[in-house]
Amino acid sequence: MKIAILSQDASLYSTKRLKEAATEREHEVRVINYLRCYMNITSHKPTVVYQGNPLEEYDAVIPRIGASRTFYGTAVVRQFELMGVFSANESQAISRSRDKLRCLQILAREGIGLPVTGFAHATQDIDGLIETVGGAPLVIKLLEGTQGIGVVLAETHQAAKSVIEAFRGLDANILVQEFIKEAKGADIRCFVIGGKVVASMKRQGAEGEFRSNLHRGGKAEKIKLTPEERSTAVRSVKAMGLRVAGVDLLRSNHGPVVMEINSSPGLEGIETATGVDVAGKIIDFIEKNAVPNKLSDRIR
Ligand code: ADP
Ligand code: GLU
Repeated sequence: MKIAILSQDASLYSTKRLKEAATEREHEVRVINYLRCYMNITSHKPTVVYQGNPLEEYDAVIPRIGASRTFYGTAVVRQFELMGVFSANESQAISRSRDKLRCLQILAREGIGLPVTGFAHATQDIDGLIETVGGAPLVIKLLEGTQGIGVVLAETHQAAKSVIEAFRGLDANILVQEFIKEAKGADIRCFVIGGKVVASMKRQGAEGEFRSNLHRGGKAEKIKLTPEERSTAVRSVKAMGLRVAGVDLLRSNHGPVVMEINSSPGLEGIETATGVDVAGKIIDFIEKNAVPNKLSDRIR
């Protein structure tokens, strides 16, 4: 097959591993910086042009779209879809999952376990907002944050109030969430491909840190999921319409709760912690599911 990896940086671990796994399986593979592509959107024959030449006869694309590049990145993926090219994740599903609030609303509708969560922008009723999630201690998050930045644990009602006031002053969208203390600073990343969990790891925050992000000094190790955790991860990904995704769970007293779903999950942490060839599994999934370049009417 002819496969394009849509990535801004060919030297990233995930990009390199996907390229390697495709090459090992004897596919023709190329890393394409989607920001440098342009598109003819009006033609009867939709095209994507890169480095002066139209990208033709690709069977599949693997989108690795940066969170801050969602708008242009998903437009490029959509154009490939119009050309009949299979995508490891559909453009619509990527856009949907990038909106954290929308993500939680969709999961709630499906009856998936979530931390009790409130959402606000400029409420005057801060006490009411805090009570919505059962009072302090509670977690307050900036909707636009990543890698644990903008995630605060407020131990008391007064602290929560000050943080919410400060965030309100930033004109920001904020989530308030029940604090899952029993998770003990750990979360679980489940890597789902084609409706199956292929690898899972536990990330433990540094001593005294409730955030388990690897970027914040967390440590990862392989973990065995309970059947309930496995099915929660799979159902969540299905609800979002994703084919390849990372699901972050917390182990709470009321069962697994989903924190977020990532449509371009990193491979380094999970491959290192589990020893699973996750990149290879993504390529295997594409081999099974990509119909060699046939015009599709799935996306209009
Ligand atoms: P980001 O998307 O910036 O990584 P998260 O919402 O995933 O932010 O939060 C970062 C970390 O903080 C999580 O990995 C988890 O360890 C911890 N955390 C987040 N929300 C809660 C919560 N409601 N209860 C307990 N721990 C939490
Ligand atoms: N970009 C990584 C992922 O989504 C984040 C890893 C982390 O900081 O925990 O897989």
